Amino acid sequence: MAAPRVIGMLGGMSWESSAEYYRLANELVRERLGGLHSARCLLASVDFADIEAMQVAGEWEAAGKVLAEAARGLEAGGAELLVLCTNTMHKVAAQVQHAVRIPLLHIGDVAAKAVTDAGLRTVGLLGTAFTMEQAFYIDRLAAHGLTVLVPDAGDRADVHRIIYDELCLGVVLDESRQLYREVIERLVQSGAEGIVLGCTEIEMLISEKDSSTPVFPTTLLHVQAAVDASLAEF
Ligand code: GLU
Repeated sequence: MAAPRVIGMLGGMSWESSAEYYRLANELVRERLGGLHSARCLLASVDFADIEAMQVAGEWEAAGKVLAEAARGLEAGGAELLVLCTNTMHKVAAQVQHAVRIPLLHIGDVAAKAVTDAGLRTVGLLGTAFTMEQAFYIDRLAAHGLTVLVPDAGDRADVHRIIYDELCLGVVLDESRQLYREVIERLVQSGAEGIVLGCTEIEMLISEKDSSTPVFPTTLLHVQAAVDASLAEF
């Protein structure tokens, strides 16, 4: 029998959420295969301080080069499929995909599929300012037929700040959870039928019970898709 495909995880952005990718992948494989089975995977973990500095400077091409190099390393090490463990850096997903032959599972496609499978069409999007304000992510969701609502400017600034100043540093505060709940409620009042947690750290703070509508946790959904692909035909 063929072995499961090796999942290449391109992480470190931040490592707090990459640790979740690793934990969830192993849990899902154990659930699916039982016993002592665990995920066949490789993790390349970059220094997020370097990447964040390039984000702020708008040096996306340079950041894409770093990630493309890491992706090549994963492929050379035996990875058979690739997950980029951050929503924001999917801004350079095409650059990363062009560097390798193995398929990159796009987190936006995975999120959109979960939303449409749930029968929803209009979603609120929470993520970094880059994700909420630039076209690369919203357009990807819209390509699946979704209407995407984002918080107003003040709420976007709070959501962004809490990601970088707290969650990426492993700090999870009740007052920030309350603030996110209020932002979610305003999106629901504006017509959101569901909320895409479009940043891989938000699941550390927010779960289904914090929203009156379904939430779509991109880390969990992305890992599920990777494990499905890893175990396909197995
Ligand atoms: N992990 C986050 C995301 O999913 C934010 C960190 C980053 O900028 O990559 O967007």
